[in-house]
Amino acid sequence: MIYELSNPLTKTLISHLRDERSDAIRFRHTVSELTKQLVYEALKDFPLVEKKIKTWRGESEFGMIDESNIVVVTVLRAGMPMLDSVMELLPNAQAGFLAMRRDETTHKSVLYYDRLPECKGKTILLVDPMVATGGSMVDALELVKKREPLNVITLNIIGSPEGLEVVNSAYPDINIFIAQIDEKLNNDKYIIPGLGDAGDRAYNTPE
Ligand code: URA
Repeated sequence: MIYELSNPLTKTLISHLRDERSDAIRFRHTVSELTKQLVYEALKDFPLVEKKIKTWRGESEFGMIDESNIVVVTVLRAGMPMLDSVMELLPNAQAGFLAMRRDETTHKSVLYYDRLPECKGKTILLVDPMVATGGSMVDALELVKKREPLNVITLNIIGSPEGLEVVNSAYPDINIFIAQIDEKLNNDKYIIPGLGDAGDRAYNTPE
């Protein structure tokens, strides 16, 4: 399932990301806010477990998300502000890292680092801001799926219809939560209208 956020505040934040005047700190902050919106939506039916809490009126049981069963996996480097944002909401979740670079000639993603914690039986939140061709998401999902998680949810900021179709047909069982589906990919495999290169925008490294 692909779920696109529709809240006007989401769309406003997306427009701020497109604005070239948004500097790196504003860019990362806006990505972080959008990520929180995605997490709220993605976890809206997540089960609560009863945990004992000492309150001002004594000890009682209250519902909480069992964060120890959640692994947040980021695709470096553009996914870093998203990872930090999810970990602010779920500080006891574990983090996993994948590093891929985009080959500018073939437009394919190349994995060069992978550090994932135990994923078996856990819920994976895979964060990657841009779903362009869908190639890096499919590669990341293949790696994560090999670790036998309970389920995988992806959180993405902007995607192209083409890329989302690639991911959805490769992994129809995963849930994709995305803030904005844009018009198309251009010949250089950038999302149009998009926002340019998310990693460069977040970390001040224009080409
Ligand atoms: N990666 C980006 O950061 N932006 C695009 O438009 C495509 C891939």
